[in-house]
Amino acid sequence: MQTNREKLKKIKAFIFDMDGTLWLGNQTINGAKETLGFLAEKSFAFFFFTNNSSKNPTEYVKKLKRLKLGRYQKKHIMTSGDVAAAYLKKQSPNPTVYVCGTKTLKAQLKKAGITVVNQYGRTIDFAVLGFDRELTYKKLTILTDYIMDGVPYLATNPDDVCPLEGGRFLVDCRSMAKMIENATGKVPVYLGKPEQPTIDYILSKTGLKPEEIAMVGDRLYTDIKTAQKAGMLSIAVLSGEMTRGDIEKSDVKPDLVYADVAEMLADLKEIF
Ligand SMILES: [Mg+2]
Repeated sequence: MQTNREKLKKIKAFIFDMDGTLWLGNQTINGAKETLGFLAEKSFAFFFFTNNSSKNPTEYVKKLKRLKLGRYQKKHIMTSGDVAAAYLKKQSPNPTVYVCGTKTLKAQLKKAGITVVNQYGRTIDFAVLGFDRELTYKKLTILTDYIMDGVPYLATNPDDVCPLEGGRFLVDCRSMAKMIENATGKVPVYLGKPEQPTIDYILSKTGLKPEEIAMVGDRLYTDIKTAQKAGMLSIAVLSGEMTRGDIEKSDVKPDLVYADVAEMLADLKEIF
């Protein structure tokens, strides 16, 4: 039987989560730069996937550069906003949606050829909730009106919080969805990690088989669960949300566990 560490030898692409894995807020995590440098030097493909739908890939390219983690292109970045765009286009070639999300998310969907309306009373195909850091009571009211009309309801990502430095966090998409559920009784269809639309998106974007992909992340219920469901190699880092205690208690077990990407890099250097 192959050990999980031996499975690393088959890997062609690494997909990194960002918040809690490569940085916390504006602070890079130990070993992040060196790990990416090493993988580039060894000609691995690598991508960044975030469930954060409040920013678009261009903003992540800028953040990676600003934090001196390297110069990347939009094609290296995947967000739950990209998954939402791909999912909506699969449902209908010209979908019309209402988005309770940031201006950036709306622009991202529009660019993908999706019609985004801003008022209540239009005929729409989907109501979409994102990690809305520009949430207003008006947007919340329009969203719940559409949901109560029975419009199919999607949410970009099932994260409760978005971690920041110093143990602080932001209220994220699922916490917003919980508030709406409390009022309406309706639960959205989630699209980001660990949901099937994300797995489909990753496989089509990379063109690789699941066993050729390693997912690196700090969350059991998003990063590790995605890899487990898809048959990818799951690598947990304890630099963000997850602790060893969480792993012991959970049914979702990562294939490999490291304190942070620096410790993972030390192991990769022994193998490659
Ligand atoms: Mg994370």
